[in-house]
Amino acid sequence: MMPTPIDDETLRGYLADTLDPTEMARVEKALRDSAELRQRLEQVRADRADPTVHSLGSIWRRNRLTCVDRETLGSFLLDVLDPSYAAYIRFHIEVVECPFCRANLADLESKSRPLTEQDQIRRRRIYDSGRGLIGG
Ligand SMILES: [Zn+2]
Repeated sequence: MMPTPIDDETLRGYLADTLDPTEMARVEKALRDSAELRQRLEQVRADRADPTVHSLGSIWRRNRLTCVDRETLGSFLLDVLDPSYAAYIRFHIEVVECPFCRANLADLESKSRPLTEQDQIRRRRIYDSGRGLIGG
C-alpha cells in the first residue's frame, strides 16, 4: 500500500504541531529523505500569513513556556482571573493542550463542588493576595 502523499496541508499541520505522533514521525522521516520536501516545507512556512494560534501553540509547547500552577488553575475554574490571563490559560489548555495542565485541571474539576459564599470570599482573598505578590 502506498503511503498517503505529504501535501501542503500535512506540512502546515507538521509546522503547527497538530498532527498525530505517527504522522509527525512519518513527515519527519520524509523530510530527512527528501530535499524537495524540505524545500516545500520552507515554502509552506514562508506562505503562512499571520501566525495562527496553532503555530503559537507549537512554539509554546516546544519551549515549554509557562505552565500554570494548581492554585492558578483553581482560580481559572472559579473564573476570578483577569480576562486576558484567563484567555492565556484557556489557550494553554485548549490549543496548546498541555497534558500536565489538562490533567491538573481535570483533577481540580473532579474535586470542585458548588461554592458557598464563604468559599468565594476566601478564594477571592487568596487570589487577591496572590495578585499582590505578582503585581509587586
Ligand atoms: Zn502547562
